[in-house]
Amino acid sequence: MPSRDSLDEYRRKRDTRKTPEPAGRKRGSRRGKPRFVIQQHDATAMHWDFRLEADGVLKSWAVPKGPSTDPREKRLAMPTEDHPLDYAGFEGVIPEGEYGAGPVIVWDAGTYRNLTEKNGKEVPVEDAVRAGHVKVFLEGEKLRGAYALTRTGQGKRPRWILVKMKDEHADARRNPVRSEPQSVISGKTLKDLGLRKRGTRRSRTRG
Ligand code: MN
Repeated sequence: MPSRDSLDEYRRKRDTRKTPEPAGRKRGSRRGKPRFVIQQHDATAMHWDFRLEADGVLKSWAVPKGPSTDPREKRLAMPTEDHPLDYAGFEGVIPEGEYGAGPVIVWDAGTYRNLTEKNGKEVPVEDAVRAGHVKVFLEGEKLRGAYALTRTGQGKRPRWILVKMKDEHADARRNPVRSEPQSVISGKTLKDLGLRKRGTRRSRTRG
């Protein structure tokens, strides 16, 4: 039996006999640079799941409009449950009736450097998430450079904002969410996996 940890919510929401997603049996431990992944997910509504490896799991936010490369664009990011590390390679279709039903592709992936500091000292990402402010330098295939995630409210599911920071990788003319829809793993788009049929959904399938 898996021990109680921050993946409990992930496991509780999924029936491993029905979904092709990773079971999330255990937290990971990896060496080397921490990874990030952004998964485009056509669920109840289209969104991009932004995930950062920290503390043996993927800290996660759902970004309805996807990330921008323009520092003037503030993108809403709703926190979601921690995901297991092997979720970073997941691409496929979550079946109708299951949590998050719909196709998922790995829209971008790579490693990141933690830029979060307090009083000149690096703050571990898991602590930064708890404190409501994370700054990372992404080294992905589509996205590069510094991004900030900031909590803007209180309560059980407070809103966060994802914004590109000003650096040499900021570019207001790019719009990769639109212009680069392919998976960085398979080259497939969500359409190739089959867009979900809207209006046929019976159960609650957020996520
Ligand atoms: Mn999702």
